[in-house]
Amino acid sequence: MAAGHDTDSSPAVRLLLRSLRRGRVGHAYLFSGDSMTELEELARALTKALNCTSAQPGSDDALGSCGHCPNCRRIDRFNHPDILWVRPESKLRSITIDQIRDVMHAVNLKPTDAAWKAAILVAAERMNVQAANAFLKTLEEPPPRSLLVLLSTDPQRLLETIRSRCLRLTVGSEVTHVTDAADGEWLTRFSSVVATPQKSLLSRYLLLDGLLKRLAEIRASVERELSAKSPLETHDEVEPSLREKWEDELTAAIEAEYRKRRSDLLNALHWWLRDVWIARNTDAPGISQLPELADNAAKLADRLTPPQALENLKVIERTRRMLETNVQEALAIEVGLLKLNL
Ligand SMILES: [Zn+2]
Repeated sequence: MAAGHDTDSSPAVRLLLRSLRRGRVGHAYLFSGDSMTELEELARALTKALNCTSAQPGSDDALGSCGHCPNCRRIDRFNHPDILWVRPESKLRSITIDQIRDVMHAVNLKPTDAAWKAAILVAAERMNVQAANAFLKTLEEPPPRSLLVLLSTDPQRLLETIRSRCLRLTVGSEVTHVTDAADGEWLTRFSSVVATPQKSLLSRYLLLDGLLKRLAEIRASVERELSAKSPLETHDEVEPSLREKWEDELTAAIEAEYRKRRSDLLNALHWWLRDVWIARNTDAPGISQLPELADNAAKLADRLTPPQALENLKVIERTRRMLETNVQEALAIEVGLLKLNL
């Protein structure tokens, strides 16, 4: 990859570069973007940077690999024995369970010439269900010194459980962040309470109380914003049937928007708990999705076992699924929060 490549300017790539220079590498990445060629180049650049034998920061390549040593050259030609590429095959153009099993077997073997083994899944969303489930198992117990890289131009089609266990880099746009300032403040308070060891049920209920209060604020502000835009606001004298229709529309719009913002809030919590899981699960903490809360994440990670940290992600996923059904919200949130390992 030549200097000055487009991906150089992406904030995601700069973040990746910074992490690499500090020797922090997470074990599973999801690179998404519009161009598969660009994503493949980024995966090659990453695996070269990790395996280059004469890497120099600021050299040829944006990520600091030389481009000339045997490792770099073989990675560029797609024939490095430790850098495994998986592409959709078969008539259905899908990635099959056999392909996943083969590559995971290979990833589990000691590297031949490289410091890091890597499996790169091109068009990862084309894994069929069995393949995705087999892959998920590997994600839960990653082999040491291995790197799994998923490339996708359509990441929404990946299983949520897979997406949530990868460090996500979106090429060509902003990195993940909490968009709502009040959500960010809530998460900061939540994570700092959790960072201090506390085992009492009371403190757990205080966390629950804080979350329910934040949800109530969100609902109130959605109601305010959407009511102000409703025609009910400007038309006093209308037919009862039309009034009723507008009222129904407003109620539905409020509910839909509220659910979306509730989901954003739970996403933010999910990102932070994923940082905890990654900090617990790898020798190196990798890229933090929420760098400003990384210290709090590290403190919680110190108290948890890897399965406990993983269970937290599952708890949030289950809670979100429950909330999509018609279960009572406060109950679903309470059950979820009390089950978290904090
Ligand atoms: Zn090199």
